[in-house]
Amino acid sequence: MKTIYLASGNAHKLNELQTALNLAGLSVRVCGPNEAGGMPEVEETGSTFEANSLLKAYGLREVGPLDAWYLADDSGIEIDALGGRPGVISARYAGLECDDEANNDKVLAELEGVPVSERGGRFRCVLALVGEGVEETFSGNCEGILLEERKGTGGFGYDPLFHPVESVFTFAQISLDEKAKISHRARALTKLISWLKQQDV
Ligand code: IMP
Repeated sequence: MKTIYLASGNAHKLNELQTALNLAGLSVRVCGPNEAGGMPEVEETGSTFEANSLLKAYGLREVGPLDAWYLADDSGIEIDALGGRPGVISARYAGLECDDEANNDKVLAELEGVPVSERGGRFRCVLALVGEGVEETFSGNCEGILLEERKGTGGFGYDPLFHPVESVFTFAQISLDEKAKISHRARALTKLISWLKQQDV
């Protein structure tokens, strides 16, 4: 059985991944970073989601067994009217110590006066898988519109401002199950699963 070490200490992400791989009939065991030796400090210095997810995956591989695979993710929101910002700095857009509220406030201020027709953007998620002779990235997008005010109380991050084109609600107004059908993360995961199936694991 192949082992994939996940470069994230988030137990929810680990369970979600293991469940999705099991459902796809793949014989893969997902382990957390501590089982590989502990997640080292990795500076996310890349200017793309691809670069940062690869940095994290290779960072964990440095401390773990060479014959295993390592998976990392990086995600964020790209807003067209802001030239693609916040992008890779989505988590810390309003500053290093900022929270979701401050990030959303900054986006709202920067988009003030921008008409709906120009408020397009997308969430992006990139999964990077590395191992011996393996370096793959899988990207998922979810297109939508940035609203002029928050709507909904669920979710996290930019969810209250993001109205996906495939729904009449914001990400903060829909259930996790509904979000999982259209989310950037789910789409990247679907691509990873098809790749794994082709490898006969
Ligand atoms: P990371 O991939 O966990 O580093 O997430 C980067 C940042 O992007 C998060 O802190 C959020 O601000 C934003 N983000 C990524 N995915 C989502 C999402 O599904 N909803 C809302 N915000 C998100």
